[in-house]
Amino acid sequence: MRVTIDEDKCCGYAACLSVAGKVFDLAADNIATVLVEHPEGELADLAREAAAACPTAAIVLLDDRDRPDGGA
Ligand code: SF4
Repeated sequence: MRVTIDEDKCCGYAACLSVAGKVFDLAADNIATVLVEHPEGELADLAREAAAACPTAAIVLLDDRDRPDGGA
């Protein structure tokens, strides 16, 4: 899994930090940043929970298999 933030949608509500503070941080401009771009195991579960909790659907989760390099 690859975690990205759609910065145009992120409104700095920080719900992602509340749910998954190990995966996300908030930059000084109140835009979320990704600390762990390719989370696995528990962190991947937390990233999914954060994506569900984000009020603006700014968290985009990509399947590594969708990557052109096949996740390598
Ligand atoms: S929960 Fe969504 S809108 Fe709020 S900071 Fe995180 S990514 Fe941005």
